[in-house]
Amino acid sequence: MLSKLTRQATKYITTGSKGLVLQNLPPNLNRVKAEKLGLYLHIPFCRSPCFYCPYFKEKYNKEKALIYRDAVINEIAFYQPLLEEKQIISFYIGGGTPTTMMGNGLEEIIHTAQESFNMACNISTETHPNDVTPDMIERLMCIGVENVSMGIESFNDHFLKIIGRPYVGDRAKGAVKLLMDGDFACVNIDLMFGLPNQKIADVEKDIKTALDLGVDQISAYPIFTFPHTKLKQVVKENRFKLPGAIDRRKMLKRIEELCYDADMKRTSVWAFTRKKVRKYSSVTIPQYIGLGAGAGSLISGFFFINVFGIQEYITYLAEKQKPPIALTINFSEKEEMTHWLYWRIYETQINKKEFKEQFDKDFDVIFGKILHFLNC
Ligand code: SF4
Repeated sequence: MLSKLTRQATKYITTGSKGLVLQNLPPNLNRVKAEKLGLYLHIPFCRSPCFYCPYFKEKYNKEKALIYRDAVINEIAFYQPLLEEKQIISFYIGGGTPTTMMGNGLEEIIHTAQESFNMACNISTETHPNDVTPDMIERLMCIGVENVSMGIESFNDHFLKIIGRPYVGDRAKGAVKLLMDGDFACVNIDLMFGLPNQKIADVEKDIKTALDLGVDQISAYPIFTFPHTKLKQVVKENRFKLPGAIDRRKMLKRIEELCYDADMKRTSVWAFTRKKVRKYSSVTIPQYIGLGAGAGSLISGFFFINVFGIQEYITYLAEKQKPPIALTINFSEKEEMTHWLYWRIYETQINKKEFKEQFDKDFDVIFGKILHFLNC
């Protein structure tokens, strides 16, 4: 099946003196300079929408998932000739809830990517407490998933209900225990703070529960209430009070104290990781290709994003037989360097040697004065 798709893809690819040309891509994107790239796969399905969620997703539907699988496999075929000599150094599967497609297409997509690209990397995926079962863990390990991240958000039934998460605290704890019993290199859980009417003692309880469960990494984020989300309405109707900036700061401080006391290190603005564990991270690879509806890519100075609608994405790949790109932004070198710096600040660490390797420029010459001014 793959070779047939690759033949179709060659309609859009020509080989010239300057290298491979993917004709539907923006000019100059045809020569991918980087030798090492990340791969991102977006699975846009969720079983039920959370009240606060601003992300692009659709309610899971088995039939649609299988059609989506075929579309992603077509997209892989488009990239295969362009990337066959590159090394894929990370494969991250995000969503939505990727494990909704477990047993319904996810394995085939992963297998196709492994056959098509030079994947010298482990696989990381997001999952959901309601998807975690011993069988699912077995399947994840069989397909080579090493790092797993699960959005718990809170172990407290009351807060889970307010933010529209469809499970109770005990279910969440059970799911974490199952993941911890699996043979994963890193189990990350997401917890939210600054929830409606939440107090520092509530945050403390959640963090202590996570630490007692022995997770490898905790990512603790403040909740954001976007105007068009149901949470905004729930807060208004119930006259809940959202903790203000000062209270949120105190909460984060307490989270830091608890994680440092538990001998964790800070690995990003929001994440704390056990010292011997390699951090779980989704967004920090300098250059990457995104597969799937709404996925973004950054290569050779171009940031481009796929169409968001699942149907439109499928139509592009199945009927138009074109890469499903909706928008392209050509970064100047300065913008690319600033983008790099943004993510290093997010990670709270700057590796100047890495900067030199990527841009062939001295970090201090480019950003030294700014960082000095910011007292970093
Ligand atoms: S599971 Fe994640 S992506 Fe899906 S609705 Fe909830 S927050 Fe959004």
